[in-house]
Amino acid sequence: MEYHELTIGNAMERLARREISSVELTSAFLDRIETYEEGIGAFITLDRDGALAQAEQADQDLAAGRGSALTGIPLALKDILCTQGIKTTCGSRILENFVPQYDGTVVSKLKGEGAVILGKTNLDEFAMGSSTENSAYKITRNPWDREYVPGGSSGGSAAAVAARFCCGSIGTDTGGSIRQPASHCGVVGIKPTYGRVSRFGLISYASSLDQAGPITRDVRDAALLLNAISGHDKLDSTSAKVPVPDFTQALDQFGKGSLKGMRAGIPKEYVSAEGMDPEVEKVFHHAKQVLEDLGVEIREISLPHAEYVVAAYYIIAPCEASSNLARYDGVKYGFRDRSSDDLMDMYKKTKSRGFGIEVQRRIIIGTYALSAGYYDAYYGRASKVRTLIAGDFSKAFETCDLILSPVAPAPAFKIGEKTDDPLTMYLTDIFTLSANMAGIPGISVPAGYSSKGLPVGIQMMARKFDEMSLLRAGYGFEQSIGLARKFPDL
Ligand code: GLN
Repeated sequence: MEYHELTIGNAMERLARREISSVELTSAFLDRIETYEEGIGAFITLDRDGALAQAEQADQDLAAGRGSALTGIPLALKDILCTQGIKTTCGSRILENFVPQYDGTVVSKLKGEGAVILGKTNLDEFAMGSSTENSAYKITRNPWDREYVPGGSSGGSAAAVAARFCCGSIGTDTGGSIRQPASHCGVVGIKPTYGRVSRFGLISYASSLDQAGPITRDVRDAALLLNAISGHDKLDSTSAKVPVPDFTQALDQFGKGSLKGMRAGIPKEYVSAEGMDPEVEKVFHHAKQVLEDLGVEIREISLPHAEYVVAAYYIIAPCEASSNLARYDGVKYGFRDRSSDDLMDMYKKTKSRGFGIEVQRRIIIGTYALSAGYYDAYYGRASKVRTLIAGDFSKAFETCDLILSPVAPAPAFKIGEKTDDPLTMYLTDIFTLSANMAGIPGISVPAGYSSKGLPVGIQMMARKFDEMSLLRAGYGFEQSIGLARKFPDL
């Protein structure tokens, strides 16, 4: 098997047996990136020297019997996670020269387990978008067909995994940004429960919704990465003090080849959702059958407030964004427009030149919705809707362990197709936003292909902190449907 075909799990075994070295593995990925990156655009920053140095250290550690869980495994990180000494841009001009003084907790945990960091992946500016077309630096193309978007906002991380530029990657998900690009690129993505993974050093978009998680080639790898990044962190007051199980045990639980005893609900509101592509419907229907054959008991459920989720999210997220992004004023750090001596002028020009159009749109929406006289009508009301949505899920989980849905209403769209129509773009988030609003975990697993050969995933959601059920069902599904680790030639 060629180096770049190795999953995290495979590579770990072969490194442990000393059949391959991390330097060989890392060099193979770096060479592959060099050959194919121009046509894909997955990375903003590549850290060739740093990665090779980490790989050398990993080989020494392995030789001395000091290996940890991920020693020597090459990974890529979304460029919104702070990396000490490595530029962290958030896909924005305003942070084009920002070099963090510290590692975010996700990063320090991965490094602590011995992972090799290849570089930082492209994203929609400040994670605002669903196509990775909103980056100030480049667009990322879908490795399955370069005319199509990879999804977003973690499009660089998902494309890097599908292109086999790394063993696995980390994305972040505020309203679907791990699950949706995973679905569009034919890889696995998990958005953990809010609080499962520390947000320290994850640059904030909408703090009450943001969560980092794995994007991988198969479900086992997702469990391995989730093991490494989960856990309470005193540096993030919203990280939860709950025990972290060994997530790979979920795979053994599947052991006997059955998911008997699991109950999954399909929301009737989702089935009749507007704009649902018949090809996605077909893949979803087949996926449902596969789960039923595995012994999952499937029933119809209702999420009565589902129709309000897009409207509520697109108030709450911009409100939080307008507050979080106020710090980029050209004074403290980041880009500053120096064309004027007047302070107000400097603020204005810095923000209008430093931020792209989508980010500016959201700052304006958020600032408007939070202003005196409007707060109750918009933010207050959206927060109430959020509570109702969370309530719908709690109720649903009284009678089922999983909720099944498509990830997105349609397969990946063409580059440029929706750039002039932000509302249509927002509507494609309909199935993923709720998990963030309710704080529950969700997984996207490859489930089929469109007639054009583009991958389509299915989504499963579970109760708070029950990632085990997602991994167990995800693994069972993956084994049965047999689509794991199928990728396009580049
Ligand atoms: N597409 C959604 C948005 O634009 C979600 C993005 C995300 O999860 N970061 O806000």
